[in-house]
Amino acid sequence: MKRYELFINGKFIPNGDRKMIQVINPATEEVVSEVPQATEEDVQAAVDAAYEAQKSWARIPAIQRAGYLKELAQLVSENLELFAQTTAEENGKLIGQARDEAGWLPEYINYYAGMARHIKGEIITSDRPNENIFLYKRPIGVVAGIMPWNFPLFLIGRKMAPALIAGDTVILKPSSDTPNGAYEFAKLVARSSLPAGVINVITGSGSVVGNALAVNPKVAMVSMTGSTDSGRKIMKAAADHIAKVSLELGGKAPVIVMDDCKLDETVQHVFNSRFIYNGQVCNCAERIYVQEGIAPAFIAKMTEKIKNATYGDPIKNPDATIGPQINKKQQEHIDDLVQSAIKDGATLVCGGKKASLNGKGFFYEPTLLVDCRHEMRVMQEEIFGPVMPISTFKTLDEAIEKANDCIYGLTSSIYTQNTDVMMRAMNEIHFGETYVNREHFEAFQGFHAGVRQSGNGGDDGEHGLDEFMETQVCYVAYDTKAQGK
Ligand code: NAD
Repeated sequence: MKRYELFINGKFIPNGDRKMIQVINPATEEVVSEVPQATEEDVQAAVDAAYEAQKSWARIPAIQRAGYLKELAQLVSENLELFAQTTAEENGKLIGQARDEAGWLPEYINYYAGMARHIKGEIITSDRPNENIFLYKRPIGVVAGIMPWNFPLFLIGRKMAPALIAGDTVILKPSSDTPNGAYEFAKLVARSSLPAGVINVITGSGSVVGNALAVNPKVAMVSMTGSTDSGRKIMKAAADHIAKVSLELGGKAPVIVMDDCKLDETVQHVFNSRFIYNGQVCNCAERIYVQEGIAPAFIAKMTEKIKNATYGDPIKNPDATIGPQINKKQQEHIDDLVQSAIKDGATLVCGGKKASLNGKGFFYEPTLLVDCRHEMRVMQEEIFGPVMPISTFKTLDEAIEKANDCIYGLTSSIYTQNTDVMMRAMNEIHFGETYVNREHFEAFQGFHAGVRQSGNGGDDGEHGLDEFMETQVCYVAYDTKAQGK
């Protein structure tokens, strides 16, 4: 069994008598590693290291910082299979999908390395004669990157790469369910020429370690991806010293399927958007509204697909449709929502049960529920699992109203061939992202950000880089009569 150590100021810290957290393989329930529960002193040491390192890191030209990022990307690229296996094991992601995620990490780091020459300010016209106003984009300082379990590798990139290119230093705090990938990354950081303290990795519970980061006055920004409940707590904790928070939180993505959609493609896209990564993606298709005319055909085709969907061990059975859910709590949460929907009048078409392999693992059967009503819990609360609830509607107005009537506002989608309907949907669906005639999945160069209780701030692209910087405006008066000698 692997045992990892905190990575602070360029060094691994012996575990000593720190409490250890066991990391469980969700497919087999075996303990795969132990990681330390950082103490408040450890958090302070990591913050101090990042704070000191940031002073000189910010002075290095961005193009040189990009060189360090490229070195890290190269090291990750040389170890992709290690990262993929680590993620399949601790997260339960099918190995093929874990390999995809591992591949995104160096690509994402390189994407932000490429931003080195794109950090720009502005020169603004002054109200006064003989004055220039310069607006600079400056690094924000120390960033706490608090991560969820569902993309433990990719999120390393999201929390670290834009911060580093901007001139910030980071403390990464992965989820206690999936810390191993971040520690494998720390080993590569230790091997690289990156100055000590620029990237630190610590582990422990959100309520202790995450909270200690958020309340620390030397932490200028908390970039957190996770649930809305935790985001709310972080916002309150960071309020004490008015730290910037960028929160990527939960979602309840509506899918609107119009009568005139291309049926087969739509069924495939919606199926993929629901079941990929075991249904554990923040932008997963979480509630499906199908127009009445096409509903019987859509449901018949979707039923066939979901009945043929399988669950299996993510490494031994890579052709399964899904692997396990992350933990028992999540498996029970999914079942609770399914049973409450059935009790409230939804029709179970297939699935609907917790499952296991040889009595082990937190699996859930691929599930289809129809006759769902908009107000049911399964249509309002984030499922985060392989369960597709379907409801029908008559008019576009009704579908848009239902889509918007939700505390979450991360992603949404519509399937139609009518451009007027597309345009109305894009203008009237109030979500951070809207996909038209395609599955839910964002691009590095976009801007992944939720509205309402799905978060504030955002990630990716140039706007994502902006989140990791602050603005300084300098007013410079000059003498027009000045003469050089
Ligand atoms: P979580 O909120 O339980 O944990 C996320 C992280 O926050 C963990 O590292 C945790 O330790 C930490 N944390 C928890 N309480 C904290 C506190 N009081 N102070 C500081 N840190 C704290 O979320 P999860 O279960 O790991 O992840 C699943 C959730 O993440 C889902 O709701 C999903 O929609 C969301 N998510 C959102 C996006 C997005 O881009 N919007 C992407 C992936 C996942």
